[in-house]
Amino acid sequence: MLDLTLYDPFEKMQFTDTNCFLCGTSITTEHRAPVFGEWLQRKYNLENKELLLLDKSVTTFSQLSIPCCDRCHTHYLLPLEAEVEQAAAAGIAGIQALDRQKLFQWIGKMYYGTLVTELIKETDPLIMPQYAVSEDPKMLGKFRSFFQVLQSLRVPMVFSDFLPCSFFILEVNPEQDELPFEYQDELTTMVFSIKLGSVAIICTLLDNGIIERALGKLEQVANGHQLHPIQLAEFKARVFYAAYIFNVVPEYFIRPQKAEDDHLVLDTLIDDVTNEIFNPWDMTAYAHMLEEMLKPWGIRESEILKDPKQPLSFILTEDNTFKLVEKV
Ligand SMILES: [Zn+2]
Repeated sequence: MLDLTLYDPFEKMQFTDTNCFLCGTSITTEHRAPVFGEWLQRKYNLENKELLLLDKSVTTFSQLSIPCCDRCHTHYLLPLEAEVEQAAAAGIAGIQALDRQKLFQWIGKMYYGTLVTELIKETDPLIMPQYAVSEDPKMLGKFRSFFQVLQSLRVPMVFSDFLPCSFFILEVNPEQDELPFEYQDELTTMVFSIKLGSVAIICTLLDNGIIERALGKLEQVANGHQLHPIQLAEFKARVFYAAYIFNVVPEYFIRPQKAEDDHLVLDTLIDDVTNEIFNPWDMTAYAHMLEEMLKPWGIRESEILKDPKQPLSFILTEDNTFKLVEKV
């Protein structure tokens, strides 16, 4: 019989350098896996590139690693990285064709890797974080749900009729774009975006695809176009803002198992009776988010809200069709 037991590090808050992040096995501190795959670091020259962590400390892509046992590393992480590497070599078509559950696991691992780094740091008595994630029960509940579905990396798992996240896969015009690699994540709203060459993937985790459906029209408009980097920035602002006002946490349930089962089946439930799915859209808050994303172009909030009913857009024309942007 296959062991389909899930690991729950949240039960005892077992975030240490001597427990595998994925299965919990006791390990020594030498057993680690990079948060960002080695191929990614090589391909985009990230090894010595600096990264700012939530507590404002600085690390590099090659230093950012998580405790991981040899078995999880060789059996689950490396094959996944190899598969994504191969898909990414084929550009947007390759990423589009990648199994969505795999893509979820790949992004989920990087997101969770930065989160685990944070949680391990918070156990250090010398570090006094301004905002301790581990002290927020609501956040911990979300992370716990998320880790349950992320374990599909290790434990064979079928999601009954959902994917635990939303994806937006976009193409940037290489002639207008200077950054070969870009990444951004937000721990609390669970958004992650990464750009590999001309392909950008934006993912909102733990929303069961709701944000993808909510922004479906926008995605349709942008699909098939090579976006100007400013259009990608606006797209990101819209997705990040949607994640910010997203107000529900899906629950996941494991179906009762039989002895001969070789995988788990998960069902999900979203309580949209006691909670609205989205908090109300606030134009000023959205404008803040957009201003932040448009920083490289120095576009200010006042410009964004010149027409308060229709905020500045680089993606949509007044009739909600695709806007061609050649130069900004
Ligand atoms: Zn392990």
